[in-house]
Amino acid sequence: MAPQREWFEKDYYATLGVTESASAKEITSAYRKLARELHPDANPGDAAAEERFKEVSAAYDVVGDPEKRKEYDEVRRLGPMAGGFGAPGGAGGFGGPTGGFNFSTEDLGDLLGGLFNRGRGGGGGATRTRGAGPQRGRDLEAELHLRFEDAVRGVTTSVNLTSDATCSTCHGSGARPGTSPTVCSRCGGRGALEDNQGFFSFSQPCPACGGRGQVVEDPCPTCAGTGVERRPRTVKVRIPAGVDDGQRIRLKGRGDAGRNGGPAGDLFVVVSVAAHDVFGRSGRHLTLTVPVTYPEAVLGADIRVPTLDGEPVTLRVPAGTRSGRTFRVKGRGVQPAKGPSGDLLVTVEVAVPSQLSDAERAAVEALAAAESSTSPRAHLGV
Ligand SMILES: [Zn+2]
Ligand SMILES: [Zn+2]
Repeated sequence: MAPQREWFEKDYYATLGVTESASAKEITSAYRKLARELHPDANPGDAAAEERFKEVSAAYDVVGDPEKRKEYDEVRRLGPMAGGFGAPGGAGGFGGPTGGFNFSTEDLGDLLGGLFNRGRGGGGGATRTRGAGPQRGRDLEAELHLRFEDAVRGVTTSVNLTSDATCSTCHGSGARPGTSPTVCSRCGGRGALEDNQGFFSFSQPCPACGGRGQVVEDPCPTCAGTGVERRPRTVKVRIPAGVDDGQRIRLKGRGDAGRNGGPAGDLFVVVSVAAHDVFGRSGRHLTLTVPVTYPEAVLGADIRVPTLDGEPVTLRVPAGTRSGRTFRVKGRGVQPAKGPSGDLLVTVEVAVPSQLSDAERAAVEALAAAESSTSPRAHLGV
């Protein structure tokens, strides 16, 4: 993705309360802590918390992603005069006095939105019914708890959330059932008026209809003309094989419904993966610790080892294997949709019995007597 205009202006590290040198893990845990504290569900009606929540999410969106973080660090290092800010596929060349930056379409939208929202104070229910233009729905975040196996294999599941959704009474039109929005007389339904401001001219959203091109004369009683209502809903989520604990999955357009015909926000699903009794994860690889007896380690043995997909495998432990050695069972780790399969990493650990039978004790004592000439600590010189 192309760097955003915001990248010059915002210190995402400060937003998350971490230093620029923070590890990915530190960033994730700082983010999760803040997201929990500031989550709209935990702070109903608290606009400041919601704003902070958005900022924190936006910050994590960038510095929580290793690729984007690299670009962001680069942008900050070079500063705003670095140039080369063409967003691929983006629109507007914008040759203002600022020095010829190309903003992406989204940025331009932000900029214009910023200009025109300024004059429009308040924003209560009444202004929403008429003058207010299309507003993009908020981005939402939902936590999804996954079983270890499901994170490894991938799963299609669903998250339940309560959010702004298209109004079920008026189906989003904002007009009382039986009536329809009428074409705006000021702009003739185009939603925009030409405006010439010296060195650049652009069309500005029509103030009478807020850019919608339509006016609701008789607002829908359920949504007060906004076209959205708050209600519980279920969103289906396809989780790819190999997601990691803490990973954020973006579902475009599945956030809050937009108001007054605006586009929906995005839904970010944050994955929380439960631990497994036996297996661990290391990226694409699964990990497993297997106890072996001292004779098995010394003499070598074939041992049976479980795998996550059910079929045990036989692992050859060669004679003279030290405790802690790791063996690789190829291809029995995570099998992601893209990229190579992971392996099963089996670490053997010599088990030391705490209780011995008489026969075992006698055998171990005989071993000790036979070994006593060569101390494994000889090299320590004591
Ligand atoms: Zn409605
Ligand atoms: Zn209009």
